[in-house]
Amino acid sequence: MKPFIYDYNLDALREWVKENGEAAFRADQIFDWIYVKRVSSFEEMTNLSKSLREKLDGQFAFVTLKEITKFQSKDGTVKFLFGLHDEHAIETVIMKHNYGNSVCVTTQVGCRIGCTFCASTLGGLKRNLTAGEIVAQVVEAQKMLDKDGERVSSIVIMGSGEPFENYEATMTFLRIMIHEKGLNIGQRHITVSTSGIVPNIYKFADEDTQINLAISIHAPNDKLRSKLMPVNRRYPFDDVIASLDYYFEKTGRRLTFEYALIGGVNDQAEHAQELADVLKTRMAHVNLIPVNHVPERKYVRTSRSDIFNFQRILTENGINATIRREQGHDIAAACGQLRAQHMQKGQEKAAR
Ligand code: SF4
Repeated sequence: MKPFIYDYNLDALREWVKENGEAAFRADQIFDWIYVKRVSSFEEMTNLSKSLREKLDGQFAFVTLKEITKFQSKDGTVKFLFGLHDEHAIETVIMKHNYGNSVCVTTQVGCRIGCTFCASTLGGLKRNLTAGEIVAQVVEAQKMLDKDGERVSSIVIMGSGEPFENYEATMTFLRIMIHEKGLNIGQRHITVSTSGIVPNIYKFADEDTQINLAISIHAPNDKLRSKLMPVNRRYPFDDVIASLDYYFEKTGRRLTFEYALIGGVNDQAEHAQELADVLKTRMAHVNLIPVNHVPERKYVRTSRSDIFNFQRILTENGINATIRREQGHDIAAACGQLRAQHMQKGQEKAAR
Protein backbone atom coordinates (compact mmCIF):
# COMPACT_ATOMS: atom_id res chain seq x y z
CA MET A 1 0.00 0.00 0.00
CA LYS A 2 1.20 3.51 -0.84
CA PRO A 3 2.05 5.85 2.08
CA PHE A 4 -0.36 8.69 2.75
CA ILE A 5 0.65 12.18 1.66
CA TYR A 6 -0.75 13.44 4.99
CA ASP A 7 1.90 11.34 6.78
CA TYR A 8 4.56 13.79 5.60
CA ASN A 9 5.37 17.01 7.38
CA LEU A 10 6.87 19.84 5.34
CA ASP A 11 10.48 18.87 6.08
CA ALA A 12 9.83 15.29 4.98
CA LEU A 13 8.13 16.54 1.82
CA ARG A 14 11.13 18.79 1.08
CA GLU A 15 13.40 15.74 1.43
CA TRP A 16 11.18 13.80 -0.96
CA VAL A 17 11.14 16.50 -3.66
CA LYS A 18 14.92 16.88 -3.34
CA GLU A 19 15.45 13.15 -3.78
CA ASN A 20 13.25 13.36 -6.84
CA GLY A 21 15.30 16.11 -8.47
CA GLU A 22 12.81 18.92 -7.88
CA ALA A 23 13.34 22.34 -6.32
CA ALA A 24 12.60 22.57 -2.56
CA PHE A 25 9.81 25.13 -3.05
CA ARG A 26 7.75 22.44 -4.80
CA ALA A 27 7.22 20.88 -1.37
CA ASP A 28 5.81 24.19 -0.10
CA GLN A 29 3.46 24.28 -3.08
CA ILE A 30 2.28 20.72 -2.39
CA PHE A 31 1.76 21.57 1.30
CA ASP A 32 -0.25 24.63 0.30
CA TRP A 33 -2.47 22.60 -2.03
CA ILE A 34 -3.14 20.07 0.69
CA TYR A 35 -3.72 22.28 3.72
CA VAL A 36 -4.63 25.73 2.45
CA LYS A 37 -6.51 24.96 -0.75
CA ARG A 38 -7.51 21.56 0.61
CA VAL A 39 -7.63 19.60 -2.62
CA SER A 40 -8.26 15.86 -2.61
CA SER A 41 -6.14 14.77 -5.57
CA PHE A 42 -2.73 15.46 -7.10
CA GLU A 43 -4.45 16.18 -10.41
CA GLU A 44 -5.78 19.44 -8.95
CA MET A 45 -2.27 20.78 -8.14
CA THR A 46 -2.13 22.75 -11.34
CA ASN A 47 1.04 24.75 -10.68
CA LEU A 48 3.06 21.51 -10.61
CA SER A 49 4.33 19.88 -13.78
CA LYS A 50 2.33 16.98 -15.12
CA SER A 51 5.27 14.63 -14.56
CA LEU A 52 5.55 15.66 -10.88
CA ARG A 53 1.83 15.21 -10.38
CA GLU A 54 2.06 11.74 -11.91
CA LYS A 55 5.04 10.87 -9.75
CA LEU A 56 3.17 11.98 -6.62
CA ASP A 57 0.14 10.01 -7.67
CA GLY A 58 2.27 6.92 -8.24
CA GLN A 59 3.91 7.12 -4.83
CA PHE A 60 1.34 8.55 -2.42
CA ALA A 61 -2.32 8.17 -1.59
CA PHE A 62 -4.74 10.61 0.02
CA VAL A 63 -6.38 9.25 3.16
CA THR A 64 -9.97 8.50 2.36
CA LEU A 65 -12.28 8.75 5.32
CA LYS A 66 -15.60 7.29 4.36
CA GLU A 67 -18.46 8.83 6.28
CA ILE A 68 -20.40 5.87 7.72
CA THR A 69 -22.63 8.01 9.89
CA LYS A 70 -22.84 11.60 10.96
CA PHE A 71 -24.92 12.85 13.87
CA GLN A 72 -25.67 16.44 14.56
CA SER A 73 -26.63 17.38 18.09
CA LYS A 74 -29.02 20.17 19.01
CA ASP A 75 -26.07 22.02 20.57
CA GLY A 76 -24.18 22.01 17.24
CA THR A 77 -21.82 19.13 18.05
CA VAL A 78 -21.23 16.94 15.00
CA LYS A 79 -20.01 13.42 15.47
CA PHE A 80 -18.62 11.40 12.59
CA LEU A 81 -18.04 7.70 12.33
CA PHE A 82 -15.46 7.34 9.54
CA GLY A 83 -14.52 4.12 7.78
CA LEU A 84 -10.78 3.72 7.09
CA HIS A 85 -9.21 1.99 4.08
CA ASP A 86 -9.37 -1.34 5.95
CA GLU A 87 -12.32 -2.76 7.90
CA HIS A 88 -11.93 -0.33 10.81
CA ALA A 89 -13.97 2.70 11.84
CA ILE A 90 -13.06 5.71 13.99
CA GLU A 91 -14.87 8.61 15.61
CA THR A 92 -14.16 12.32 15.18
CA VAL A 93 -16.16 15.11 16.82
CA ILE A 94 -16.56 18.79 15.98
CA MET A 95 -17.67 20.87 18.95
CA LYS A 96 -19.03 24.40 18.68
CA HIS A 97 -17.97 26.76 21.42
CA ASN A 98 -18.55 30.47 21.74
CA TYR A 99 -14.80 30.91 21.19
CA GLY A 100 -14.64 28.78 18.03
CA ASN A 101 -14.71 25.27 16.64
CA SER A 102 -12.85 22.47 18.32
CA VAL A 103 -12.10 19.08 16.79
CA CYS A 104 -11.61 16.00 18.94
CA VAL A 105 -9.45 13.44 17.14
CA THR A 106 -8.79 9.74 17.56
CA THR A 107 -5.24 8.34 17.54
CA GLN A 108 -5.83 4.59 17.66
CA VAL A 109 -8.48 2.14 16.50
CA GLY A 110 -9.75 1.00 19.89
CA CYS A 111 -7.52 1.26 22.94
CA ARG A 112 -5.67 -1.16 25.19
CA ILE A 113 -5.57 1.04 28.29
CA GLY A 114 -8.77 -0.47 29.69
CA CYS A 115 -10.29 2.42 31.66
CA THR A 116 -13.34 0.85 33.19
CA PHE A 117 -15.72 3.71 32.32
CA CYS A 118 -14.80 3.89 28.63
CA ALA A 119 -16.46 2.30 25.62
CA SER A 120 -13.41 2.76 23.37
CA THR A 121 -11.47 0.03 25.08
CA LEU A 122 -14.16 -2.66 24.97
CA GLY A 123 -12.73 -4.50 21.94
CA GLY A 124 -9.09 -3.77 22.86
CA LEU A 125 -6.58 -2.14 20.55
CA LYS A 126 -6.96 -2.95 16.86
CA ARG A 127 -4.17 -0.81 15.47
CA ASN A 128 -2.42 2.55 15.64
CA LEU A 129 -3.49 5.26 13.22
CA THR A 130 -0.78 6.75 11.03
CA ALA A 131 -0.05 10.46 11.45
CA GLY A 132 -1.86 11.01 8.15
CA GLU A 133 -4.99 9.27 9.37
CA ILE A 134 -5.07 11.62 12.36
CA VAL A 135 -4.39 14.64 10.11
CA ALA A 136 -7.19 13.59 7.75
CA GLN A 137 -9.75 13.91 10.57
CA VAL A 138 -8.94 17.59 11.01
CA VAL A 139 -8.84 18.20 7.26
CA GLU A 140 -12.30 16.59 6.89
CA ALA A 141 -13.63 18.72 9.74
CA GLN A 142 -12.13 21.84 8.15
CA LYS A 143 -13.68 20.98 4.79
CA MET A 144 -17.05 20.74 6.46
CA LEU A 145 -16.55 24.07 8.22
CA ASP A 146 -15.38 25.67 4.95
CA LYS A 147 -18.99 25.48 3.75
CA ASP A 148 -19.93 28.05 6.42
CA GLY A 149 -16.73 30.06 6.09
CA GLU A 150 -15.55 28.85 9.52
CA ARG A 151 -12.30 27.33 10.67
CA VAL A 152 -10.95 24.80 13.13
CA SER A 153 -9.64 26.95 15.94
CA SER A 154 -8.61 24.30 18.45
CA ILE A 155 -7.84 20.60 18.62
CA VAL A 156 -8.14 18.16 21.49
CA ILE A 157 -6.53 14.74 21.28
CA MET A 158 -9.13 13.11 23.46
CA GLY A 159 -10.87 10.69 21.11
CA SER A 160 -10.35 6.95 21.19
CA GLY A 161 -6.88 5.69 21.96
CA GLU A 162 -3.90 6.68 24.05
CA PRO A 163 -1.84 9.21 22.04
CA PHE A 164 1.32 8.52 24.05
CA GLU A 165 1.15 4.86 23.00
CA ASN A 166 1.26 6.11 19.40
CA TYR A 167 3.78 8.79 20.20
CA GLU A 168 5.67 9.34 16.94
CA ALA A 169 2.51 9.52 14.82
CA THR A 170 0.95 11.92 17.34
CA MET A 171 4.00 14.20 17.27
CA THR A 172 4.12 14.20 13.46
CA PHE A 173 0.42 15.04 13.43
CA LEU A 174 1.01 17.93 15.84
CA ARG A 175 3.91 19.32 13.80
CA ILE A 176 1.71 19.32 10.69
CA MET A 177 -1.17 21.01 12.53
CA ILE A 178 0.89 23.87 13.95
CA HIS A 179 2.89 24.60 10.80
CA GLU A 180 2.36 28.20 9.71
CA LYS A 181 2.23 27.16 6.05
CA GLY A 182 -0.47 24.60 6.75
CA LEU A 183 -3.57 24.76 8.93
CA ASN A 184 -1.59 26.95 11.33
CA ILE A 185 -3.45 26.02 14.51
CA GLY A 186 -2.09 27.94 17.52
CA GLN A 187 -0.07 25.65 19.78
CA ARG A 188 -1.82 26.96 22.87
CA HIS A 189 -5.11 25.90 21.28
CA ILE A 190 -4.11 22.26 21.14
CA THR A 191 -4.40 19.82 24.04
CA VAL A 192 -3.02 16.29 24.22
CA SER A 193 -4.64 14.09 26.81
CA THR A 194 -2.88 11.06 28.25
CA SER A 195 -3.86 8.38 30.74
CA GLY A 196 -0.38 8.68 32.25
CA ILE A 197 2.23 6.96 30.08
CA VAL A 198 5.06 8.22 32.27
CA PRO A 199 8.13 7.79 29.97
CA ASN A 200 6.39 9.73 27.22
CA ILE A 201 5.24 12.49 29.58
CA TYR A 202 8.97 13.09 30.21
CA LYS A 203 9.64 12.92 26.47
CA PHE A 204 6.81 15.35 25.71
CA ALA A 205 8.10 17.76 28.36
CA ASP A 206 11.42 17.82 26.50
CA GLU A 207 9.81 18.63 23.13
CA ASP A 208 10.02 22.31 22.41
CA THR A 209 6.31 23.10 22.13
CA GLN A 210 3.61 25.25 23.72
CA ILE A 211 1.02 22.49 23.37
CA ASN A 212 -1.13 21.81 26.43
CA LEU A 213 -1.00 18.57 28.34
CA ALA A 214 -4.01 17.07 30.08
CA ILE A 215 -3.84 14.06 32.33
CA SER A 216 -6.75 11.70 32.89
CA ILE A 217 -6.40 11.28 36.62
CA HIS A 218 -9.93 10.14 37.61
CA ALA A 219 -8.98 9.17 41.18
CA PRO A 220 -7.16 10.86 44.06
CA ASN A 221 -5.00 7.90 45.08
CA ASP A 222 -3.16 4.84 43.84
CA LYS A 223 -5.62 2.21 45.05
CA LEU A 224 -8.77 3.68 43.52
CA ARG A 225 -6.97 4.73 40.34
CA SER A 226 -5.74 1.15 39.78
CA LYS A 227 -9.33 -0.05 40.09
CA LEU A 228 -10.61 2.44 37.52
CA MET A 229 -7.57 2.53 35.25
CA PRO A 230 -5.45 -0.63 34.98
CA VAL A 231 -2.66 1.51 33.43
CA ASN A 232 -2.05 2.78 36.97
CA ARG A 233 -0.51 -0.59 37.85
CA ARG A 234 2.10 0.03 35.15
CA TYR A 235 2.61 3.70 35.99
CA PRO A 236 1.54 4.34 39.59
CA PHE A 237 -0.10 7.53 40.78
CA ASP A 238 3.01 9.02 42.44
CA ASP A 239 5.15 8.38 39.34
CA VAL A 240 2.55 10.13 37.19
CA ILE A 241 2.53 13.14 39.51
CA ALA A 242 6.37 13.23 39.51
CA SER A 243 6.43 13.23 35.69
CA LEU A 244 3.89 16.08 35.66
CA ASP A 245 6.05 18.07 38.06
CA TYR A 246 8.91 17.62 35.61
CA TYR A 247 6.65 18.78 32.74
CA PHE A 248 5.74 21.90 34.72
CA GLU A 249 9.37 22.56 35.63
CA LYS A 250 10.39 22.34 31.97
CA THR A 251 7.50 24.22 30.37
CA GLY A 252 5.97 26.39 33.08
CA ARG A 253 2.62 25.40 31.64
CA ARG A 254 -0.37 24.81 33.87
CA LEU A 255 -1.51 21.20 34.13
CA THR A 256 -5.02 20.12 33.29
CA PHE A 257 -6.46 17.18 35.16
CA GLU A 258 -9.43 15.35 33.71
CA TYR A 259 -11.62 13.76 36.37
CA ALA A 260 -14.55 11.60 35.27
CA LEU A 261 -17.10 11.59 38.06
CA ILE A 262 -18.74 8.21 38.59
CA GLY A 263 -21.68 8.00 40.96
CA GLY A 264 -20.69 6.60 44.37
CA VAL A 265 -17.24 5.49 43.17
CA ASN A 266 -14.92 8.54 43.04
CA ASP A 267 -17.29 11.48 43.47
CA GLN A 268 -17.61 11.83 47.24
CA ALA A 269 -16.36 14.64 49.50
CA GLU A 270 -13.42 12.58 50.77
CA HIS A 271 -12.26 11.99 47.19
CA ALA A 272 -12.46 15.70 46.43
CA GLN A 273 -10.48 16.55 49.57
CA GLU A 274 -7.80 13.95 48.83
CA LEU A 275 -7.45 15.28 45.28
CA ALA A 276 -7.24 18.82 46.61
CA ASP A 277 -4.45 17.79 48.99
CA VAL A 278 -2.42 16.46 46.03
CA LEU A 279 -3.04 19.43 43.75
CA LYS A 280 -3.14 22.48 45.99
CA THR A 281 0.62 23.05 45.81
CA ARG A 282 0.61 22.72 42.01
CA MET A 283 -0.55 24.95 39.12
CA ALA A 284 -3.54 22.84 38.24
CA HIS A 285 -6.87 23.11 36.57
CA VAL A 286 -9.41 20.32 37.04
CA ASN A 287 -12.04 19.45 34.47
CA LEU A 288 -14.87 17.56 36.09
CA ILE A 289 -16.66 15.29 33.63
CA PRO A 290 -19.86 13.59 34.70
CA VAL A 291 -19.58 10.23 32.90
CA ASN A 292 -22.13 9.36 30.29
CA HIS A 293 -23.95 6.15 30.92
CA VAL A 294 -22.07 3.32 29.18
CA PRO A 295 -24.53 0.44 28.90
CA GLU A 296 -21.74 -2.19 29.00
CA ARG A 297 -20.62 -0.95 32.43
CA LYS A 298 -22.44 -0.81 35.74
CA TYR A 299 -21.62 2.81 36.60
CA VAL A 300 -24.31 5.32 37.40
CA ARG A 301 -24.24 9.05 36.85
CA THR A 302 -23.16 11.37 39.64
CA SER A 303 -25.95 13.44 41.16
CA ARG A 304 -25.95 17.17 40.46
CA SER A 305 -25.41 17.94 44.15
CA ASP A 306 -22.33 15.67 44.28
CA ILE A 307 -20.90 17.33 41.16
CA PHE A 308 -21.26 20.81 42.68
CA ASN A 309 -20.02 19.66 46.07
CA PHE A 310 -16.89 18.17 44.47
CA GLN A 311 -16.24 21.41 42.62
CA ARG A 312 -16.81 23.48 45.76
CA ILE A 313 -14.24 21.50 47.78
CA LEU A 314 -11.60 21.94 45.07
CA THR A 315 -12.34 25.63 44.74
CA GLU A 316 -12.19 26.19 48.50
CA ASN A 317 -8.70 24.68 48.38
CA GLY A 318 -7.66 27.24 45.77
CA ILE A 319 -7.91 24.89 42.81
CA ASN A 320 -9.52 26.07 39.62
CA ALA A 321 -12.22 23.51 38.75
CA THR A 322 -14.79 23.56 35.97
CA ILE A 323 -17.60 21.21 35.13
CA ARG A 324 -17.35 20.24 31.51
CA ARG A 325 -20.38 21.29 29.55
CA GLU A 326 -21.71 18.08 28.14
CA GLN A 327 -21.85 18.23 24.40
CA GLY A 328 -23.69 15.97 22.04
CA HIS A 329 -25.38 14.18 24.91
CA ASP A 330 -28.32 13.38 22.63
CA ILE A 331 -26.06 11.67 20.04
CA ALA A 332 -23.99 9.28 22.18
CA ALA A 333 -20.99 11.60 21.99
CA ALA A 334 -19.07 9.87 24.75
CA CYS A 335 -15.81 8.47 23.54
CA GLY A 336 -16.21 5.22 21.63
CA GLN A 337 -19.96 4.73 21.96
CA LEU A 338 -20.77 5.23 18.30
CA ARG A 339 -18.06 2.84 17.18
CA ALA A 340 -19.11 0.29 19.81
CA GLN A 341 -22.67 0.41 18.45
CA HIS A 342 -21.32 0.05 14.91
CA MET A 343 -19.18 -2.96 15.88
CA GLN A 344 -22.12 -4.59 17.62
CA LYS A 345 -24.29 -4.18 14.52
CA GLY A 346 -21.51 -5.78 12.44
CA GLN A 347 -21.33 -8.75 14.80
CA GLU A 348 -25.08 -9.19 14.78
CA LYS A 349 -25.09 -9.14 10.98
CA ALA A 350 -22.27 -11.73 10.83
CA ALA A 351 -24.15 -14.00 13.26
CA ARG A 352 -27.29 -14.00 11.11
S1 SF4 B 1 -10.39 6.79 28.38
FE1 SF4 B 1 -8.87 7.07 26.75
S2 SF4 B 1 -7.08 5.91 27.53
FE2 SF4 B 1 -8.83 5.23 28.75
S3 SF4 B 1 -9.58 3.40 27.65
FE3 SF4 B 1 -10.73 5.18 26.87
S4 SF4 B 1 -9.63 5.81 25.05
FE4 SF4 B 1 -8.24 4.51 26.23
